[in-house]
Amino acid sequence: MAPKKSEKPLNRSRPPYVDTVFDILEELWGNEKEEPRLGHEEPLDGLVLTLLSQNTNDRNRDKGFAALKAAFPTWERTASASAEAIEDVIRPAGLAKTKSERMLQILGAVREAFGDYSLKALAEKDDAEARNYLASLPGIGAKTVACVLLFDLGRPAFPVDTHIARFCRRMKWVEESLPPEEIQPLLEEWVPVERYLGGHVNIIEHGRGLCRARNPECAQCPLKRENLCPSAQ
Ligand code: SF4
Repeated sequence: MAPKKSEKPLNRSRPPYVDTVFDILEELWGNEKEEPRLGHEEPLDGLVLTLLSQNTNDRNRDKGFAALKAAFPTWERTASASAEAIEDVIRPAGLAKTKSERMLQILGAVREAFGDYSLKALAEKDDAEARNYLASLPGIGAKTVACVLLFDLGRPAFPVDTHIARFCRRMKWVEESLPPEEIQPLLEEWVPVERYLGGHVNIIEHGRGLCRARNPECAQCPLKRENLCPSAQ
C-alpha cells in the first residue's frame, strides 16, 4: 500500500541544534558509543520479528517469535504450516490472523525471488535495491523496511516508531500531523549516517524513560535544561 501523504507541504530545512540534541541524548543514553546488537544472522528473522511487533509491545512480540521458532524451527517448516497453525502459535503477539497470513505471503515471495527462505542475498544488492525489494513485500511498511535495513543488513535507514515520531513532533522538527513514514526521510537527511543506529535507540530510550506519551518527565530532561525543547512543561 502506498504511504499516505500529508496534506501540508514538508518543511525540508534542517532544524537547528539537531547535532546538539543528538549529543545530549548520547550523553544521557550512550547507544552511539556502545551500539546495541539488534541484528540477526538471517535477515528474514528480523523481518518476521518486526512483522510480529506491529501493534504490540516488545515483550509480546518476543513471546510470539519464540513460540514460532519453537513450533517451526526453520522457515521451510513455517512455510509448509497452515495459516491457522501459525496463528495459534503467534497469538501472544496479537493480530495473529493477519500476521500469520502475511507471514505466509512473505515467505512465498522470498522463496520465489531467491529460491530459498532467506534474505541473505540482499547483502549483494545496493542500498536502493535492497530497500525497494523489502518495500515490495506484502504488508511491509516503511518502518519494517528501515528496521531490517539498519539492524539486519547494516544499511543506512532511520526507522521511525511511535517514540521517535512523538519526539520529533515535540521538538517541533515536524508538524503534529506528519506520519512516521514521512518523518523517516527527513531524519535520514538531517542526521549523519554514522549516528543512525545509536541515535535511533537513544531517542527510543528517551521516549520510554523520560519523554513518555503521558506525563513526560521534563523536569529531569537535559533538553529542557538546555532550553532546546519547545514542548517542555
Ligand atoms: S523537555 Fe519534556 S517534552 Fe521535551 S524532550 Fe524532554 S521530556 Fe520530552
